[in-house]
Amino acid sequence: MPYRAWFQCINPECGAVYPLDAIVYRCRECGSLLEVRHDIERLARRSAQAWMKLFEERYKSTQWPYGSGVWGKKEWVLPQIDNENVVSLYEGGTNLFWAERLGKLIGLEDLWIKLCGNTHSGSFKDLGMTVLVSQVKQMIRDGAPIQAVACASTGDTSAALAVYCAAAGIQSIVLLPKGKISTAQLIQPIANDALALSLDTDFDGCMRVVQEITRDETIYLANSMNSLRVEGQKTVGIEIVQQFDWEAPDVIIIPGGNLGNVSALGKGLLMMRDLGLIGKLPRIVVAQAERANPLYRAYLRNFESFEPVRAEKTLASAIQIGNPVSVEKAIRILRQFRGVVEQASEEELADAAALGDKTGMFNCPHTGVALAVLIKLLRAGKIDKSERVVVISTAHGLKFIEMKVRYHNGELDFPCRHANRPVELPPRADAVKEALREALRRRERLQA
Ligand SMILES: *Cc1c(COP(=O)(O)O)cnc(C)c1O
Ligand SMILES: [Zn+2]
Repeated sequence: MPYRAWFQCINPECGAVYPLDAIVYRCRECGSLLEVRHDIERLARRSAQAWMKLFEERYKSTQWPYGSGVWGKKEWVLPQIDNENVVSLYEGGTNLFWAERLGKLIGLEDLWIKLCGNTHSGSFKDLGMTVLVSQVKQMIRDGAPIQAVACASTGDTSAALAVYCAAAGIQSIVLLPKGKISTAQLIQPIANDALALSLDTDFDGCMRVVQEITRDETIYLANSMNSLRVEGQKTVGIEIVQQFDWEAPDVIIIPGGNLGNVSALGKGLLMMRDLGLIGKLPRIVVAQAERANPLYRAYLRNFESFEPVRAEKTLASAIQIGNPVSVEKAIRILRQFRGVVEQASEEELADAAALGDKTGMFNCPHTGVALAVLIKLLRAGKIDKSERVVVISTAHGLKFIEMKVRYHNGELDFPCRHANRPVELPPRADAVKEALREALRRRERLQA
């Protein structure tokens, strides 16, 4: 009997089921979100040891498509896809950076950064997009009426959608909030032949419009409320555990906006536990920007109620979301993972990103939010200095250089503690040597 997966309504009182090739994003019975369910009994017929061995053999191999970090776990992700329909750009398999220096600076012995931005489109959205676009390719081959794939985006989902669609020869449509994404994120879908639309609203406004246009079955919805994306995104947690020789860390910190990714992280780890690959679950921490913090506010109320907020402008633009689509899934996951939610101000996130950069990273502002939250939780004693902590770095810093330029020029409305301004000098060796002496003196003062 082959491995099987299907869509299932997340509302336990409903539980309606749909095939993965149905064009459906919310339950037709009750309107709840759907999730992909797997035939766990079938998967459990292979031992945990055998799964680990199989995943190890495939990891970063050239055996297409299994060398991809996502498709190396194909049976756990999307078992019914034909390999010829897989649209893969060799996503996943990203470096787990040992942040020894930063750890020492902030007082943590065992800190690791999962560099998910070191991937084809520069953000961890590739992990989910490969799954969704592959499924679309198979549906089109089987005669589905899909003409285009659409998303609303704060910049990274659109970049990933456009590049996977370009690789597959499928039309993409991206709805972007005007003036609210970085130049790099805007040029990515333009270069990758998307229909790029700049709408005079915020992300939540774009999300409303995309849900309306995708009621028409010829336009397929690629936002993470489409749970196919979650199946690919969930491999990030599995891969982290694999990179630690199948041992779960103590804490994983992830920045959260629409909250699809924290749900996915938990889903992958639960699957590992259910199939016997890990015994203990890590704690999960969601890091939010103070200016877009609806989950943090709900956390303070023990998740007894949730109120959307109007997200304000933040340097962490990819998580400037006030009404997260996947909030229900996220809260469910946090309850199972002794979850913590903490927030970071603009100053805290920018300083934390810059401090990380000074120790050999090149952080995006969202990673800055996660690092700032780590520092706060350490100080508050909510993370112990001996715990093994993994911070999920969600995008490459090169996508967000406007923010870095402003920081190092001291053009933000706070002090920019770690600003490092370029020095203008006459072209003379003595002037250069004097500048170096000055830099070394400054370094000594800081270390003293
Ligand atoms: C999408 C994204 C996030 C947040 O993921 P959600 O699933 O929306 O919570 C964080 N950082 C970056 C860089 C992103 O692109
Ligand atoms: Zn339902």
